[in-house]
Amino acid sequence: MTNPGRDAAYRGFVLDLLLPQQCVVCARGGTQLCDACFAGLPRIEPPLCERCGLPTAWPVRRCRECAGRRLAFASVRAAVRYDDAVRSFVAAWKERELRRLAAAAVSVVLEVVPPPCADAVTFVPPDPDRGLKRGHHPPRRLAEVLAREWALSLVAPLRRRAAKRQRGLSRAERRRNVAGGFVARGHVPSSLVLVDDVFTSGATANAAASALRKAGARRVEVVTFARVVR
Ligand SMILES: [Zn+2]
Ligand SMILES: [Zn+2]
Repeated sequence: MTNPGRDAAYRGFVLDLLLPQQCVVCARGGTQLCDACFAGLPRIEPPLCERCGLPTAWPVRRCRECAGRRLAFASVRAAVRYDDAVRSFVAAWKERELRRLAAAAVSVVLEVVPPPCADAVTFVPPDPDRGLKRGHHPPRRLAEVLAREWALSLVAPLRRRAAKRQRGLSRAERRRNVAGGFVARGHVPSSLVLVDDVFTSGATANAAASALRKAGARRVEVVTFARVVR
């Protein structure tokens, strides 16, 4: 008798043992992320824009990036700037379910982002087009562990509607494409932390927060591992 689930898990375990371990940022051997690269992840420090989390010269309530934009979320806090090292980190984390990377991402978020005041934690759901391997979805993993650390419950009301691929679209096209790209089902708590891996233009977080607001959430705070800082 065979057990497909257990066989797949066993193959994953064996592959983890057989594949050479090397740092996903600097390629040094021995570990999935070396201590130097972990220490070098570019933490985002205050002062920040209170609303969109962009680093600013002094604390502001609106900034050049978010002023004049209608946003469905109340705030954004990200742990690190999306630079080349973080890009390699995120690409490797999306590609393979590496425990060291998940642990590193959680630990930097806990170090940088103050514990939010909310009822529950949720996450931006995976894109069904992307052919997820073994259900691996870094934002969900991040949300699960953060919920546990912050002693909040984890909820998963968001679903994606079918949308065009984001790659190759301009910033304005991306915004239009993801607007209305999500729907929330079932009970939605009043205040939520919405977790994603990377905050880029804010279009995805805004569309997801907007679906949560339509379903009854009154306040959505976005927390991501990385944030693009232009
Ligand atoms: Zn390294
Ligand atoms: Zn701002």
